[in-house]
Amino acid sequence: MNQDNQPLLEVKNLKKYFPVKGGVLGRTVGEVKAVDDVSFEVYPGEILGIVGESGCGKSTTGKSILRLIEPTEGEVLFEGKDITKLNNEQMRLLRKDMQIIFQDPYASLNPRHTVEKIINEPLMIHTDAKKAERRERIKELLKVVGLSPYHASRYPHQFSGGQRQRIGIARALANNPKLIICDEPVSALDVSVQSQVLNLMEKLRDEFQLTYIFIAHDLSVVKHISDRVGVMYLGKMVEIAPKDQLYEHAKHPYTQALLSAVPDPDPDIQRERIILEGDVPSPQDPPSGCPFHTRCPMAMDICKQELPQFLPVEDNHVVACHLYNDQQQHLSKHKKGELV
Ligand code: SF4
Repeated sequence: MNQDNQPLLEVKNLKKYFPVKGGVLGRTVGEVKAVDDVSFEVYPGEILGIVGESGCGKSTTGKSILRLIEPTEGEVLFEGKDITKLNNEQMRLLRKDMQIIFQDPYASLNPRHTVEKIINEPLMIHTDAKKAERRERIKELLKVVGLSPYHASRYPHQFSGGQRQRIGIARALANNPKLIICDEPVSALDVSVQSQVLNLMEKLRDEFQLTYIFIAHDLSVVKHISDRVGVMYLGKMVEIAPKDQLYEHAKHPYTQALLSAVPDPDPDIQRERIILEGDVPSPQDPPSGCPFHTRCPMAMDICKQELPQFLPVEDNHVVACHLYNDQQQHLSKHKKGELV
């Protein structure tokens, strides 16, 4: 991954609001701000992890990027082109390059179709390959994901959870995509199988120069696979940094609290657990100012009134928190050449 390259994907001010209907007439009475002004880039060959508690908007972000649900506002630039402006046919052609792997492989694989038929489908849609060529490609894909060609004639229920996720990966790889959004791809699997699937995904990234957005709630899983990690809270990205920087020097109080709950493999390291008070507020009625201020142990007066900006605090380390306003301003002036 080289951040001097052009990003493969740029997400700019992405919003996804769902209307809330109420009353006898079913009128719109409010909005759930599932994704609220999220911006980030993903570079070719990179694995960007996105973490946060359930309901923080991470999966909705992934689906909005692929337009599996239509974004309310914002831009999604894939290789420099804003795909939110594409019509259905243009989007259909682009889906070859942008794939998704879902959490529950069983639900995402048609139980009445054989593995061959499941993997054949994207090949039929996006290529003119003849039947024999497609068959060969299916066999090759099964081998690539650690299954055998004879598995092609079987049905999803005949496989274990880990094997089913391998089928989902083979289907996603069928047309040599550039970007794969992995939406909690291992959270339905046993811990012993999780690392096998993660190792496979890493191997495939290297072998096929893939780029992943890896969405998960489990910080250990994200740490295992990601190059950079973004943390979401209540529809907003609150921190993003290279993996080691984030796990060792988290800046945002929410990230610090999340990390304090992750057991360290080194028994000599005792982290002080930060217990957050209260529940996650409703995204239908998020708090004023910083959305985390109702639970933040460091909250100040300004936090209740002003939304902190999502700005770099160090190179490649971006955070939305008033604690770093001075550092962020200093860095910004330095970059503009106002300081020497
Ligand atoms: Fe806490 Fe204030 Fe920072 Fe929000 S802006 S995370 S409330 S210190």
